[in-house]
Amino acid sequence: MPDGSPRSVEAFLPYGRQDIDEADIAAVVEALRSDFLTTGPLVERFERAFAEFVGAPHAVACSNGTTALHLAVSALDVGAKDICIVPAVTFVATANVCAQNRARVVFADVDPATGLMTEETLAEALDRAEGAVRAILPVHLCGAPVNMPGIAALAQSCGAAVVEDACHALGTDTAWGRTGDASKSDAACFSFHPVKTLTTGEGGMVTTRDHRAAWRMRRLRTHGIVREGFAEAPGPWWYEQHELGYNYRLPDILCALGLAQLKRLPAFVSRRRRLAARYRALLAPLGHLVRPVPTPEGSDPALHLFAVRMDFEAIGRTRAEVQERLARKGIGTQVHYIPVHRQPFWAARSATPPLPGADAWYDQTLSLPLYPGLTDADPARVVDTLAWAIS
Ligand SMILES: *Cc1c(COP(=O)(O)O)cnc(C)c1O
Repeated sequence: MPDGSPRSVEAFLPYGRQDIDEADIAAVVEALRSDFLTTGPLVERFERAFAEFVGAPHAVACSNGTTALHLAVSALDVGAKDICIVPAVTFVATANVCAQNRARVVFADVDPATGLMTEETLAEALDRAEGAVRAILPVHLCGAPVNMPGIAALAQSCGAAVVEDACHALGTDTAWGRTGDASKSDAACFSFHPVKTLTTGEGGMVTTRDHRAAWRMRRLRTHGIVREGFAEAPGPWWYEQHELGYNYRLPDILCALGLAQLKRLPAFVSRRRRLAARYRALLAPLGHLVRPVPTPEGSDPALHLFAVRMDFEAIGRTRAEVQERLARKGIGTQVHYIPVHRQPFWAARSATPPLPGADAWYDQTLSLPLYPGLTDADPARVVDTLAWAIS
């Protein structure tokens, strides 16, 4: 949308995007020339390298972040009549995978300052659950970690499993370990969608410390089929389907890209940290009108999103107006997220009492551009434009 100002000739900055280099492309080309396009040697290599990066003993690659979550809840046998607790502020997939197994979802409120589920909001949701809770799915929104020791203690006290939605938090370090080491949960789930910290186009990964759960998720990933361990098999063609599974495989071609991206992950993470620090410094003069999200104590997040909280009332403009003014000057933004319990599907399915933290977060949040390809000068361009957009 050119408006004649000099800024309009600058590149449009989306809120997030992938970073693909020649080594990534060469890795995919090499895989295309190999004997395997789908399940081949690169799946296990990608799984092992990923497990090593996050510090988990097991990693199971799958087709996307949603199927990662679905494998994790399915390996826990979450099913009909079970109750799952999901924070209201997340992508719809976190709740959907529970409903796909016919479980009931109870939405927990979040801290309005961070968008994160807390021990307090989880305890309130547990009180509301009217039954035994089977699984709790904390979401590390934007890449900032939920207080996992607190959540794990509450989960243990009520016998619930914990599945981390870590789709935003690859590379996030905390006082209790690196996100994905699954030291405080049954499983942690990641997405490799292009806006996420590492991409395979579409792709996902589940990490766990439980070797049986890893084995089960591998079986579910391929139709519930088992191929090995049959002493009485009539021949090498033999396989048996032991349960109802899915085709949730991640092809070798994409694992090649994942392995190449994984080599660059430390650089991606430090770049995201550096850009976030730039934003924090530059936003300070805007005071209470535009506040960066505070970093949970003792953590070093690798932010996927740079969300700010904006006081649109004090600014005197609506969020839509501010977003439109930014877009006109080439700055892309996004809202993460519309609270899931307010989606028509979920509102029709279950009555959720007002969740003031989720509503306050939703009313105030806006995600600014954050991805490794931003230049050192881009945060200043974004913040200058934002200062103009709210003026
Ligand atoms: C991206 C994302 C998902 C789903 O991942 P896909 O790879 O798109 O299926 C789930 N939860 C959260 C919080 C996400 O950001």
